[in-house]
Amino acid sequence: MKNKLLCPRQSASDFMTPEETEKAGDFCKSYISFLNSVKTEREAVQKAIDMAQKEGFVPWKKGMKLKSGDKVYLSRRGKALILCTIGKKSLSEGISVIGCHVDSPRLDLKMKPLYEDSSMAFFDTHYYGNIKPYQWTGIPLALHGYIVREEGQEINIKIGEDASDTRFFIADLLPHLGGKQMRKPLKYAVPAESLDLLAGLRSSPGESGAESVKLNILKILYEQYGITEKDLISAELCAVPSFPASDLGLDRSMVGGYGQDDKVCVYTALSAFLSVKEPEYTACLVFADKEETGSFGIGGMQSSFFPGFISELTEAAGGGNCNEVFSNSLCISADVNTCWYPLYKESFDEHGDARLNHGVVLFRYWGRDGKENTNDADAQTVAAIIKILDKEKILWQTAEGGKVDEEISGTLSRFFANLNIPSVDMGAPLLSMHSPYEAAAKTDIYMTYRAFAAFFKRS
Ligand code: MN
Ligand code: MN
Repeated sequence: MKNKLLCPRQSASDFMTPEETEKAGDFCKSYISFLNSVKTEREAVQKAIDMAQKEGFVPWKKGMKLKSGDKVYLSRRGKALILCTIGKKSLSEGISVIGCHVDSPRLDLKMKPLYEDSSMAFFDTHYYGNIKPYQWTGIPLALHGYIVREEGQEINIKIGEDASDTRFFIADLLPHLGGKQMRKPLKYAVPAESLDLLAGLRSSPGESGAESVKLNILKILYEQYGITEKDLISAELCAVPSFPASDLGLDRSMVGGYGQDDKVCVYTALSAFLSVKEPEYTACLVFADKEETGSFGIGGMQSSFFPGFISELTEAAGGGNCNEVFSNSLCISADVNTCWYPLYKESFDEHGDARLNHGVVLFRYWGRDGKENTNDADAQTVAAIIKILDKEKILWQTAEGGKVDEEISGTLSRFFANLNIPSVDMGAPLLSMHSPYEAAAKTDIYMTYRAFAAFFKRS
């Protein structure tokens, strides 16, 4: 009776067999190499396309005739992606959607980033997403990006990932001179305008005086990539941590690495999606861009990219009502959640918050000031998801996202819900979220994968 009445949080150490824990470890080996190969939304989208093509996915073209088992994808400028496997049921019975975001906090280069001061060349940055600026100083950084040259040639750039590559960094003030800085509020101790990358010190050969160091950097860029200062205006270049993802802890229970918000859901959802070959309901996996800045832009979840695709799909399946498809669908907004950390007890809800190593997290709402801007999933949707998780014996837990009115955040679920799709949030708990090195438990990552697979297999 006691077991029936209570719904306690359970540790993966009690719930999982040693064999399953080992499987989680193996799964995370592939996850770590995925993390190391994709640090930007473009790299994640390209990697997902490569993996999907190996499974027989083809680019979606308007007017294609589709039948059960067909696999298509649609990329939006290489920065957002929809993957779709046609199910056995008709579209009007609804589809299964998982949406995650492929962008992560980072330091974008400004449009005219290169400048010289005191015979030092810098790349000027404008940070992207909600970061704590002090965390980005004094660590090795890599430069990733994509450039469209004046004559149209497209170039992908990645400097600082191979062991032999050079690195970038942002200098901080030495503690010996940091007295005044240390007395400032943390938010202002490292001003955003000081987050510039030191790019070099040497003058261009034969040149001297003002801008000769900047000129030398431009010369190197031209020799290596054929690009000019003008090409940098349209370029998407950003600095990301260059250290690789790895096991974490003496018991190797965690994965540490940059960009796990939200690549941990991207990888688990993609693995789950590709493993379900013939779903009952049409399965859709959405990788959205710009979540960290409000989901605006053509690849953001607030654009018509996703509903536009579903409307074309509905037409291809013989017509029908797009709103009927949406209203009968079920969506998981797959994103990471905050998790309890005993060294900052004052910010968390000890009873309600998720714990590392306690399974995938189900959460219904966010929002300070009375659940502002939240989806707040309805009871039927949440109950339907719990049923799927329990049927497949998946370890899950709930979360509150910190103490009431402490947190500022939001996920994609509200944008799916705005389309009239019943949606709920689910994902792995993540420690040190938005820092250059975030930590997730391997058991939770594995349970997240299993939860997503169970969802796509629903009947
Ligand atoms: Mn996120
Ligand atoms: Mn985030």
